[in-house]
Amino acid sequence: VYIRGKRIADVTMHPLLRTAIDHASIDYLLAEQAGCRSLAVVDGDSRFFHPPQNVADLMARSQLIEEATRQGGTLVTLIKEIGTDALFALLVVAEQLGGEYPARVRRYLAACREGDLAMAVAQTDVKGDRALSPAQQPNPDAYLHVVERRADGIVVRGTKCHTSVSVNANELIVLPTRQMGPADRDFALAFAIPVDTVGLKLIVSPYLGGHDQDGFERPLASRHKMIETTTLFENVFVPWDRVFLCGEWQQAGPIARTFVEFHRFTAVSYKLPLLDAFVGGAIEMARMNGIEKAGHVRDKLAWLVSYVETVRGLLRQAAAQCRYVEAPGVAIPNPLLVNIAKLHFAQGYHTALQHVQDITGGILVTGPSVDDLDNREYGPTLERAYGGASGADGRTRLRMAKLMAELTTSDFGGYQAALAIHAEGSIEAEKLIILREYNPQSATDYVRSLVDGTH
Ligand SMILES: Cc1cc2nc3c(=O)[nH]c(=O)nc-3n(C[C@H](O)[C@H](O)[C@H](O)COP(=O)(O)OP(=O)(O)OC[C@H]3O[C@@H](n4cnc5c(N)ncnc54)[C@H](O)[C@@H]3O)c2cc1C
Repeated sequence: VYIRGKRIADVTMHPLLRTAIDHASIDYLLAEQAGCRSLAVVDGDSRFFHPPQNVADLMARSQLIEEATRQGGTLVTLIKEIGTDALFALLVVAEQLGGEYPARVRRYLAACREGDLAMAVAQTDVKGDRALSPAQQPNPDAYLHVVERRADGIVVRGTKCHTSVSVNANELIVLPTRQMGPADRDFALAFAIPVDTVGLKLIVSPYLGGHDQDGFERPLASRHKMIETTTLFENVFVPWDRVFLCGEWQQAGPIARTFVEFHRFTAVSYKLPLLDAFVGGAIEMARMNGIEKAGHVRDKLAWLVSYVETVRGLLRQAAAQCRYVEAPGVAIPNPLLVNIAKLHFAQGYHTALQHVQDITGGILVTGPSVDDLDNREYGPTLERAYGGASGADGRTRLRMAKLMAELTTSDFGGYQAALAIHAEGSIEAEKLIILREYNPQSATDYVRSLVDGTH
């Protein structure tokens, strides 16, 4: 593990990584909390590893993810969520691949469940020229690929990027990032390795890396962090028992797509606490600013409420209209509705930021620090000066404004915004699936009947 060019001897002792480790530990703590235990544990194991069988399972999984993120201060914890999304997808596609694959995936899933392991997923490759296929890239390492097939396993090299929680995971699950053709067979790969495998280098993104622990200015980032890495595979050996796809290029696309069907359901589940914070914060700031009844503010609050509740409603419908796959016995959230939910979320996100910023005011970025409020000479003057409507004192109003600033204007807010647009796939990827999944028959039949006069 490297940060800013330096190798980290012990990830648990590095302050930045420590914050990420503590944040991610929420996925474990939930099982120990009396109020969450029945949600977090199924038959003595973490619910995360329990492949959903029906609507109730999908709803419970969604609630668990939402609760973890709520306790994570609007930031997803991810060390169980993303890995199990990948495992469920591998379970489904292994059945289509046949041979040894189904048993391998089931054994691996059982080992992860029994060890209650934390997992990262490296799907996204660096991709080089997006207009070229993996095999056409001038840099062969732009997509992860096989360099050697041996009797005991395979050797792979290449570069993945944006790999979340890799530094604080036990296992790294690797998936193909896109559909592939016959020429790309060496790039059609899925496997799992422990993160301390020889030849694997994790280069940590320094984004959000320079924070002090000022809980007044950064109520969230001082306590919550997710780590992403550029993930270098320098001739990494993977034993056959951990290989889930190698060369079967026809199944690269199905694995990538099945993963995102689960993962976008996870995504929409973990977005809800953040969106609730926008609505709650906008209402609180409107009250404290004395503008709650102003027409334009009511208009913006109504938009925010509709935005959040539409995402929530679509998420529930995606679970309610899930598709059950007999072998291996897994319920997949409805892909059309999941992708509409994710698209609605991503396309509305910056409008939501605009409304929250508008209602809160310029205090977002210009207000004094907690040290100023605590200053004996002028602190009381500031507290009075920043007081608002409904008896809100200056400190309370500033604290709420600082939280809104962190969510909408800070580097943490910027991180959340990039996460909204890109994580779990770009906006265009969602549109592709919406058009693929939508059956136009009934709409086109109807419009033809209107033209024919047979309606
Ligand atoms: C905070 C964060 C965490 C993430 N965590 C993970 C993780 O844990 N594991 C993981 O594997 N990935 C992760 N991702 C990656 C995420 O899935 C990608 O960011 C997303 O798929 C977009 O890919 P990209 O960033 O390479 O952007 P690009 O694919 O380069 O997209 C940039 C633009 O190019 C367009 N584009 C790309 N290719 C084409 C093409 N062929 N034709 C036309 N237009 C094209 C896109 O639509 C978009 O408009 C994470 C991303 C973020 C931001």
